[in-house]
Amino acid sequence: MAQKKELPVQIIDKSGKQETGQFILQEFDSSDRTLRAIKMLAMMWIMAGITLFIPLAHFVLVPGFLIAGPVIAWSRYKMERSSEQVTGTCPACHKPLHKKVEAKDYPPLWTYCNECRDPLQIREP
Ligand SMILES: [Zn+2]
Repeated sequence: MAQKKELPVQIIDKSGKQETGQFILQEFDSSDRTLRAIKMLAMMWIMAGITLFIPLAHFVLVPGFLIAGPVIAWSRYKMERSSEQVTGTCPACHKPLHKKVEAKDYPPLWTYCNECRDPLQIREP
């Protein structure tokens, strides 16, 4: 079962001011990872089946989806966690910060405030 986890992080602006925040991510155990990989493989192979009926494009799409299926499923299986967002307060403008992050991002990372556009460093305390 995938578990949501909140890590305490420090949010630091360019002048060195700090605030605390949370880094929210999902952690997957081995059964979740297997299920996610199987779902991705099934989706890719279903797409290969659907694109079989598109004239000319099927020469590229069908082998593409057939090959991409196991490759993407393997990368899904190896993914042990998926980062979601950073929440907290911007140290520069003191407004609430809700920043979506890429699935593979993990502290330390750089981002910026949506309100004042200041660069922010997110790192573990
Ligand atoms: Zn700000």
